[in-house]
Amino acid sequence: MPNTHIHFLRRTTQLLFILLIIFAPFLDILRIDSDTRSLIVFGKEWSIGLEEGFYLKKSFENISYVAWRFFVKALLPWIVILSIFPILGALTGRFFCGWFCPEGTLFELFDFLTVRIFGRRNLFMKKSNDPGVPAGKRAPYIIFALLCMISIPLFTGVVLTGYFVNPRTVWGQVINWEFTFGVKAGIIGVAIYTFISTMIIRHTLCKYICGAGLMQMLFGWVSPISLRIKTDPAKLAACTDCKACEKVCFMNVKPRLLRKDINCVNCGECIEACTKELGAKKCIFSFAKSKSCT
Ligand code: SF4
Ligand code: SF4
Repeated sequence: MPNTHIHFLRRTTQLLFILLIIFAPFLDILRIDSDTRSLIVFGKEWSIGLEEGFYLKKSFENISYVAWRFFVKALLPWIVILSIFPILGALTGRFFCGWFCPEGTLFELFDFLTVRIFGRRNLFMKKSNDPGVPAGKRAPYIIFALLCMISIPLFTGVVLTGYFVNPRTVWGQVINWEFTFGVKAGIIGVAIYTFISTMIIRHTLCKYICGAGLMQMLFGWVSPISLRIKTDPAKLAACTDCKACEKVCFMNVKPRLLRKDINCVNCGECIEACTKELGAKKCIFSFAKSKSCT
């Protein structure tokens, strides 16, 4: 993969994952059916069969059958789900955070708009992150930011409520503007959370709060084979101190420092920024296995 395509590829994977999140309940890939109160997984009702167990005769075979079903249908899926992020972390570090996480994607969108309007990524930061857009040209960004501030939390509320109530019902209520209490509560609750996390918390959530992120961070840190960003000390002499690698880093990592940083999400934006400044051969950063990094 050419270094200069990283940003485009990352936006593509982020967009595809968001589309998956939007359409998964519509396609019955994963949702709860509120009418039957059952879990739908890939179009089929996911039953652990305990009700069936109540009507079976007490015999060793029947008890073994129910216990086996419970293990396969209830415990095993949980073990698999809970092990996804540790395994991902051990192999790819925080790659999921940087390339797929829909919440991280929204944080980056609002970071982008904040830089354009205020000249810094985060209003709680003291230093300017980047020159913003000149005052006379900020209006389109301000209008777009206001639209996003209102529409994205509400849209997220509608989409996520569709995981708990049939999404056709939810969208039907949105179109007719007539809501049942549960749907209204779901949309408003998720919208408030999304508004607060995108406006105020942003990547602080990734660093200190998100369980999936913390698991990838921990297992990626201890694994010698996890993916990392390698800084080549032999090439540092070519650095022009343009600071592009620091400006693009939404996790506030300083990749030029010759040390591993647990907050790096392997987005690769610093690789692309440095390649644009120095060219592919002199670029100081690359993806590498953890054991080969300082
Ligand atoms: S250090 Fe580089 S790869 Fe890591 S988060 Fe920052 S920009 Fe992304
Ligand atoms: S982008 Fe490359 S050249 Fe610019 S400051 Fe970072 S390491 Fe140096």
